[in-house]
Amino acid sequence: MQVQKTTAILLRRVDYGDADLILTFFSEDLGKISLIAKHAKKSRKRFAGALELFSNLNIQYRRRRQGGLAVLEEAHILDPFAALRQHILKTAYASYWAELAMGWAEDDQPLAPLYHLLVYALGELDAGRQDDALLNLAFQMRFMSLAGLCPNLNYCCVCRTEVENFQIAATGFDLPRGGLCCRTCDPTHEPTLCLSRGTIKQLQWIAEGDLARIGRIRFSSAALNEAQTFMEAFVPYHLGKEPRSLKFLRQIRPRATAA
Ligand SMILES: [Zn+2]
Repeated sequence: MQVQKTTAILLRRVDYGDADLILTFFSEDLGKISLIAKHAKKSRKRFAGALELFSNLNIQYRRRRQGGLAVLEEAHILDPFAALRQHILKTAYASYWAELAMGWAEDDQPLAPLYHLLVYALGELDAGRQDDALLNLAFQMRFMSLAGLCPNLNYCCVCRTEVENFQIAATGFDLPRGGLCCRTCDPTHEPTLCLSRGTIKQLQWIAEGDLARIGRIRFSSAALNEAQTFMEAFVPYHLGKEPRSLKFLRQIRPRATAA
């Protein structure tokens, strides 16, 4: 039987029988891993209270020769991210990010950049250093880039005219093509998604700028609503399904109020 050690975030925990838990982790070097934690439900002492959702842990587990889920042997807290579990809205954001990561990643497929994005975003959400709605935009944008599905916000997806040279201030976004579409290429169509030039620039910055400085971006509440509506249509469309946690987030989220 093979023992493995890694650093991983706990993204899902499900009861299994009276005593055990089935856990899904996202690890720095091993990607998504599902494990069984024996007696974890019956005795909190067994893992010293370490198995809280969204915490970043050092874990040790053992693969079984006969197959089936590997067994968690040890878990030690690296970053507890405890504050974010105290707020329902922060928990909803974290749940949405966890669902995106789990839905897209394959088992045992290493994807260190996604692990680092999760740790960074959960840490910021926990510390409350940045606006949570902006952090959510940044997470979605970076996640879609890692998934190879980043929206094209630089030029018209038909004629390739750069966005700076568009004739009008607000532009339609063509969801199936995954990019902006200028008025010349689509003069009659009434797009369901519209982005103003300012919002496009801010989204470009969020996609490519220094993540630690996103708090400096000033979104008007109208621009934040526009960007939020756009990202939360784009992500489900290109993933092929609406995450359940996104529905919940929409239900409990107040309307955008960022200055
Ligand atoms: Zn065009």
